[in-house]
Order: sequence, then C-alpha cells, then structure tokens
Amino acid sequence: MVRELTHFVAGKRVPEVSGPFGDVYDPNTGQVQARVHLADRTQTEAAIADAEAAQPEWAAWNPQRRARVLLKFLRLVERDQDELAALLSAEHGKTLADAHGDIQRGLEVVEFAAGIPQLLKGDFTDNAGGGIDVYSMRQPIGVIAGISPFNFPAMIPLWQCAPALACGNSFVLKPSERDPSVPLRLAELFVEAGLPPGVFNVVNGGKEAVDTLLTDPRVGAVGFVGSTPIAEYVYATASAHGKRAQCFGGAKNHLVVMPDADLDQVVDALVGAGYGSAGERCMAISVAVPVGEETADALVARLRERIATLRVGRSDDPEADFGPLVAQSALDRVRELIDAGVEEGAELVVDGRDFTLDGHPDGYFLGASLFDRVTPDMRIYREEIFGPVLSVVRAADYEEALRLPTEHEYGNGVSVFTRDGDTARDFTRRVGVGMVGVNVPIPVPVAYHSFGGWKRSGFGDLNQYGEDSIRFCTRTKTVTSRWPAGGVREGASFTIPTMR
Ligand code: NAD
Repeated sequence: MVRELTHFVAGKRVPEVSGPFGDVYDPNTGQVQARVHLADRTQTEAAIADAEAAQPEWAAWNPQRRARVLLKFLRLVERDQDELAALLSAEHGKTLADAHGDIQRGLEVVEFAAGIPQLLKGDFTDNAGGGIDVYSMRQPIGVIAGISPFNFPAMIPLWQCAPALACGNSFVLKPSERDPSVPLRLAELFVEAGLPPGVFNVVNGGKEAVDTLLTDPRVGAVGFVGSTPIAEYVYATASAHGKRAQCFGGAKNHLVVMPDADLDQVVDALVGAGYGSAGERCMAISVAVPVGEETADALVARLRERIATLRVGRSDDPEADFGPLVAQSALDRVRELIDAGVEEGAELVVDGRDFTLDGHPDGYFLGASLFDRVTPDMRIYREEIFGPVLSVVRAADYEEALRLPTEHEYGNGVSVFTRDGDTARDFTRRVGVGMVGVNVPIPVPVAYHSFGGWKRSGFGDLNQYGEDSIRFCTRTKTVTSRWPAGGVREGASFTIPTMR
C-alpha cells in the first residue's frame, strides 16, 4: 500500500484532496514508495489564509514564550531523530549517518533561533533633542514563505522557518516534492511543541503552488533554496510582487591545493566533500585545483587509489560511504555530463558510470568518477553536475588558482589547503566567493554567523540564518516621541526639523 502525503494546514494533515499526485521513489530500488499531492492555487491559498489568520496572535506572544516553543520542538526532534533520519534517508538516498547530520545542522539554527529574543531588542536614544526620545523596534513581516530543495529536506526548511517563527511570523513551507515526508513530520512536531495551529503550514506541490506563494499579496517575504534558474525566477517574480526575497542557487565549489598542503588531509577532504551524499550538496567540492604539475600528479595518483576503496551502497547500509542519487532523471543527467566531459577531451581517470549494486538493478546508483585535465571551457567545469564527479583543473601557479573560483559564475563555497598563513590570508581576502574554508572542505558557517553565496549562487541582500535572518524576517519601525512634560514649547514650525 503506497502512502499518500497531502498538506499540513490548520495544525493537521489535510485528510482528503482531489487533483494530481506525484510519485515519491525509493532511490535504492526505483520503486514508488509514496504519492504526494500537488496543490493547486486554491489549495495553496487556503494555507496562506490560515497562516495569515494565525499570525497576529502568535506575534502577540512575548518573544521568550515563542522561543520556548522552539526549545520544546528541539527536544521533540531529538526524541524522534532516528525515525526522522530513516524517513529522510529512504526518500533522499543519503546514508543514515548523513541524514542525522542533515537534521542536526537544522537543529543548530533552531537553537540559534531560540536565542533571538536577545537580538530582537531595539535601539533607544534618550533625549535626542528637545525632550524627544527616539527608539526603533523590529516587527514581524507577517506571512513568510519558504521553498526548499530536495537535497536537505530537514536542514533547509529549518534554516528558513526557525528564525521566521522566532521573530513572530507565520510560515508556509513548500518543500521539494521528491522527499516531502520529513517536512510534514516536522509540522506535526511543531504542533506537539505548542505552536498554535496555522503558524506553520506545509503545502506540497510544484510550480503552481510556488507561483501562488510568489504572487499572493498576503505573503510578505519569500526564502528560496534550489537551482539557479529557479532561484532567479523566484527572486524576480517575488520582487515584482513587492515581496522581500532571498534566493540561493547552485554552486561549483573549488578546493585549491597548494604545493605545501598536507596531501593526506587533502585527499580525505576531497573524497568526503566530493562524493559524500553522492555529490548532491550545494557545498560539495566538485573541482580540485592543484597548483603545479608535481602537486597535480601526486594528488591524482592518491585520489585514484582512494576512490577504489569507496563503498557505494544502499542508503541504510551503515558501511556505505554514499548511496544512490535521488531520481532517475538525476542519474541520467549526471551520466550525460560525464559523457560530455569525455567528448570534450577531459581525461576520465575513474569511471563510475557502469556501477551497479547487486540486487538493485533499478536503483539510482552511480560510482565515483574522477576527471583530470579539465579546462574552464568544458561543460563539466561550467555547469553544476550535482553527482559523484570530481574534476581536477591544473593551475600553473597560485594566481591562476585564485582566478578560477573568482571568475566562475557561481560563488557559493571555496577552500584552500596550505600550511602557509600568508597564502591563506591572501586567498580569503581576494577570492570572489561567499564562504571560504582554510584547510576545511565544507565551510558551512555555524548557526550564529550566516550562510550565503555570491554571484549566481545567491540573489538578494541578506544571508540565511545568523543576524541576517532577523533583518530578513522583521521590519524596523522607528518612533520619535515627546511627552508634554519633557517638551519645550516652540510654536509651529514650517521647516524640516533638524538637530541643531
Ligand atoms: P530545484 O530548483 O529543482 O527545486 C527547488 C524548489 O523549487 C523545489 O521546491 C521545487 O518544487 C521548486 N521548483 C522546481 N521547478 C520550479 C519551477 N519551474 N517554478 C517554481 N518552482 C519550482 O532544486 P533541487 O533539484 O530540488 O535542489 C538542488 C539544487 O539546489 C542544486 O542546484 C543545489 O546547488 C541547490 N542548493 C543550493 C543551496 C544553497 O544554499 N545555495 C542549498 C541546497 C541546494
């Protein structure tokens, strides 16, 4: 019996729906494991209306009381983490250990959000002049929508919603239709934690649901995470409809290997960040840039050896380094890009195209692939592959290695591996990328800093989580006030008031 997944509105799952369903696959077997309803405009509008109705009372709760709900939610997610990770891994295909990491990185932002009352405090100027006090406060936007990708079905929705809720907004989440079960379970846990019904709603669906969120005047701000073409579309459409938008897109993350780097560390970093989660991470390293031929030859030799030891397995195999891709279409696309790399003249050192897992002929498995002598004009360099494929681009010197990520159209993450402090400092200051690692392969900032790429990896002014998320989820109101007893009677003035 295939499970039917609907929506979460007014504090419960929507019991009956008519209209189209999409299939949710088991990436290990290629079999359909659930069906997800795809909301139309009217069904999406119902969720927005519910969120709008619930928001004023939620905003009227004091900040600490709201934070307490988040803390309770945190404990409930921890209580159910094994169940959630199993659900996540079974729909996404990432390993169980990695699914726990997905949930954990989301919870770190919930922890941060529970401390938001401290950051919601406004500014106050006593006696700015003539008995006048000036103060500013942060007020919620109202209804905020989040549209999330398949590759982090717990982490990204939590990044999007936790600060929004802590600031007094209600939230409508439109998760990926490929792995919708975990967001629905999170919605149930929010209600169990005491979140009033309607403050957090989940609408499943595709373009029609998204377009409704982008155009409905009751939605005040939109957060999007996904591929760059859709991020650009969401940013343009939401902005044209008068909404705040922060939209994060694809990536091509480089790891620069200086000749003095510890190659053992580099190889660990590259196989983990390149092939972990089958390369389906926006912070995956997909390009290694060794500096100098000697470094490149040594690196490629070591990578080839190491890749031979990697274990590709079912997502629930505790020994697996990585599992299947999320969908047949993803598998086809990655294979097609590997073919393109070969045709364009890159050297395919390790070919993962023919990998099959015993007993799983229809699973979406792919072995790890390694290309050497990739050049910037090739498709495999220009495009995000989003699969277990690592490309080596050989740089003649440091300046060339710095130029490559800086000039790439994406600017999400980058790393440099070196023992030299001057090189690291110069690199971090000059590279044209939003998040930088020094001897760290996946530089996802901690929850109280903030996450965001540059160039075509991010559209909008503000990053996700950290203090930027409070700026995104609130509006500043500034009050200039004078009370009769403190004021000086000046008579009517017909010029703009100044502080002279
Ligand atoms: P996607 O763009 O296909 O889908 C993302 C969301 O947009 C989903 O909810 C989907 O239903 C919706 N969507 C898809 N097509 C749409 C359309 N035509 N109109 C309106 N909405 C549409 O992305 P994905 O395949 O789910 O996720 C992988 C991508 O996300 C990769 O490019 C990855 O780099 C990126 N990503 C970026 C970050 C980041 O922070 N920069 C983080 C995670 C993933």
